[in-house]
Amino acid sequence: MKVLILGGTTEASALAQRLAGDTLYDATLSFAGRTANIAAPSVSTRVGGFGGMEGLVRYLQDRAVAAVVDATHPFAAQMSAHAVAAARIACVPLLRLERPQWHPEASDRWIDVSDMAEAARVLGKAPCRVFLPIGKLEIGAFASTPQHFYLIRAIDAFEPPFPHCRVIAARGPFAVEAEQKLLASERIDIVVSKNSGAAATVAKIIAARNLELPVVMVARPVLSPAETVRDVSQALDWLHRLLPSRGE
Ligand code: NAP
Repeated sequence: MKVLILGGTTEASALAQRLAGDTLYDATLSFAGRTANIAAPSVSTRVGGFGGMEGLVRYLQDRAVAAVVDATHPFAAQMSAHAVAAARIACVPLLRLERPQWHPEASDRWIDVSDMAEAARVLGKAPCRVFLPIGKLEIGAFASTPQHFYLIRAIDAFEPPFPHCRVIAARGPFAVEAEQKLLASERIDIVVSKNSGAAATVAKIIAARNLELPVVMVARPVLSPAETVRDVSQALDWLHRLLPSRGE
């Protein structure tokens, strides 16, 4: 059975790896191509956009894809919207694999915001040192608040987008101790984070908790409704139920 996995998360790669070991499936793992070196398992992959929703419909029809699993990053709202619409038009079953969000503990000092523009606003007027492990795409929101210093972290290095920042490149998983060291040595006052829910990047949230630092937590975008599961084994069950009957 041909399966398209929309990837970019650890869960997508883990699902692809599981399907690669099963001859009942012919799975392709799709990446947006946002990072130079993709951490891909040894499965069939493709890289780059489909050419909008219509392009994805064509892709599904031309290759006779029998199931789509949207396991994109929880903030990849456009890709998820295209997946829902294209799957409906192409009459292909779609499942969203979306890991749970992080939730604050009693001692956490979270400031909940709905997007990066609001995150920049709540940093306030007084200059502070901000840890910004949010990648490259949405950095522009902080260009107009130059009173702060930003330590930006992304998977791939890139030219500092404005003078009041420094860029460090690193790929998770990150350890709590190392994150704590980084926050302390850089004299960070506040952390800005997307609520990605990823195990590989939760260390910065724990480190901020341990150091009693506030975290500006950016909420996930609201996605088009779709059947959703929380982990790889539930996605495998869903795919298994779609397999053509083998006369058992
Ligand atoms: P997006 O805004 O949802 O997608 C923009 C376009 O990128 C899509 O319309 C599609 O192009 C292409 N695309 C996205 N995911 C794809 C996939 N798995 N396979 C093929 N094409 C894909 O997502 P984004 O621009 O990548 O990122 C939005 C947010 O998600 C940002 O906050 C970003 O930091 C975060 N994020 C994304 C990824 C990722 O792997 N995409 C990873 C970590 C974090 P077409 O319309 O041409 O098909």
